[in-house]
Amino acid sequence: MKNEALTLIRPPIRTSCYPDENPIGYLMRLADENTYPSYRWLLDGKGTETIDFGRLYQAYVAADWTGFQQTDPALAQICALPSIHLKSTQLRYCPLCLKEENYWRIGWQLKMSVACTRHQIWLQDLCPHCHKEQSFLNARGNQSKCLEHLASADAQAAPASVVQMQQFLETGLWEVDYPLLDTKHSPILRQRIELLVFMMSWLTIGDDLAKPARQNFQHVAAFSAIARQCADALFSDQDGFWRFLQTIHFTRASFISIQQKRLVYFYRQFFSEFPEQLFQRLKEIVEQYATMNLMRDITQKHTLFSTNAKKVQSWYSFNRACKEYDIAASVLNRAIIDKQVTVHYERTSNNYTKCAIYRPDLEKVLPHLKGLVTAHDAAQTLGVTKAQFAQVQNSGCFKFEMAPREGYCSTWQYSRLELETLIENINRGAAPLTDDCVLLAPTMQNRIQGSIDMPFLQVFKAIVSGQLIVRKPDDQFRQFRDLWLDKTEFCNWLNHLRPKVDALTVTEAAKLLGVNEEFGNQLVNRGYLNHKLDLRNAKMIFPDHIRQFKQEYVILSKLSEDSNSSSTRIIELLDASEIYPVDHNASDKLRQRLYARADVLLSNDLFRYVQHLPETDL
Ligand SMILES: [Zn+2]
Ligand SMILES: [Zn+2]
Repeated sequence: MKNEALTLIRPPIRTSCYPDENPIGYLMRLADENTYPSYRWLLDGKGTETIDFGRLYQAYVAADWTGFQQTDPALAQICALPSIHLKSTQLRYCPLCLKEENYWRIGWQLKMSVACTRHQIWLQDLCPHCHKEQSFLNARGNQSKCLEHLASADAQAAPASVVQMQQFLETGLWEVDYPLLDTKHSPILRQRIELLVFMMSWLTIGDDLAKPARQNFQHVAAFSAIARQCADALFSDQDGFWRFLQTIHFTRASFISIQQKRLVYFYRQFFSEFPEQLFQRLKEIVEQYATMNLMRDITQKHTLFSTNAKKVQSWYSFNRACKEYDIAASVLNRAIIDKQVTVHYERTSNNYTKCAIYRPDLEKVLPHLKGLVTAHDAAQTLGVTKAQFAQVQNSGCFKFEMAPREGYCSTWQYSRLELETLIENINRGAAPLTDDCVLLAPTMQNRIQGSIDMPFLQVFKAIVSGQLIVRKPDDQFRQFRDLWLDKTEFCNWLNHLRPKVDALTVTEAAKLLGVNEEFGNQLVNRGYLNHKLDLRNAKMIFPDHIRQFKQEYVILSKLSEDSNSSSTRIIELLDASEIYPVDHNASDKLRQRLYARADVLLSNDLFRYVQHLPETDL
């Protein structure tokens, strides 16, 4: 019934339409001018109650006096649209256009219309006076007053991108520097509308939802912010569309799983709704975005994606990664545990955890994962003994070093590639032999064995860090054991390395002073022999302390030794000169007699034994 043709009944007063006049508006205008109480007087045919733009347009074209034969081509296109894209009876309007010419423009009735391109302002949906929607069909009764108000509604300036989007909607012109759409194929009206509906719907996606609900786009004022976002995505700059994808990917999505689902739904929907060639460039951007951000496989099953996308996608499932890169699941697992590759886990509805591997990470470590060798083989690659290699194990020297783990591998594992690169680098940095060179292997065994801790580790680190220069007589590749060192350079390095024996313990100091440990402790504790505390609060005596002590004090036993006199004889002599020990007045005497050197220097008999301080190599 709906498709049956309408006929326009020729009225007494006939008027021609405007080139872009809304057919229902024209019908009302015609009824008004003829003072008909109902527009139905003008129509004949079945279903005059359910009038629509398409049927009216056909009826007008059939009547030669309406002027609809000469209207804008766009008018015919809009009238032919499915009603879902149109506001058929509710008015949308530009107040400034209405002020200029009081008739209804067909372009306003597109649901996606948001702005007037001539006045560059937002369109309105409500009466500024009563804030109600206006219907064409009722506009003649109660609401006739409202119609008078519409032209005086606020004119609100629309952003340039929004005006451009409106231009695109109406004409298909794509006035941006970069061709987001294929310029050879201009989209038809329906395609333009569908693109905008699709993009705006996605921008309205609800909190933590995976896909957008159907949108009505009833009032421009209610979706102007969304319209602006959409316009910025398509008509602002090069990267607007990329930002749009980020927005729909992340906004109001607090879980990675939701974000991922959104991306999947988005690209699937986009690819299936816009299969035409003219959307190719947009699809390429979507594809780029999806391959970078999708944490799942893109396989042959994903027919929407190009072959290239399948090659470049950033994430592989665990199983696919094993297969494509030809590595054992246990090895990949191990790399995940050791945090050598980034993974993402997703729990599916049936409680199965999917694991996605970040390919760039995997590709970086792959040569290492593929060439894992045991410590035994690693030692052989470097040309060192097993014992020597044991020193460098687990010392932070290797980036690739996997400790044994139950259920994985019972031995240490190393990357052959890393070891080969290392020994090759050392070879490349080798200098020519000097006159006095020694081979590394015997040097390790004869010269430094036992003189320093972990000798091979120290030599290894010194060579790798360039502190020790290795040498060789020719261009031939050599392993560690066959490399040479300059003897002088090596000895200098070794001397530097030996810990300096400058700080003494109390026991050592006592020994040095030739006294027993208890007396040594007394000297330190009572402050005759100075000391410092180390980090563990142990007393340390430095050479300066010993020197200072010898400068200030004289120990009786030492004096006796030096002067070849008995202690008793010395005490008599000193007592006679009224020279007494440092603890003369103390109740708690020192274990041995200790004199101030300055006092002994006053003694005519003994001063010569203390006037010269003994030479010391401290
Ligand atoms: Zn206007
Ligand atoms: Zn009103």
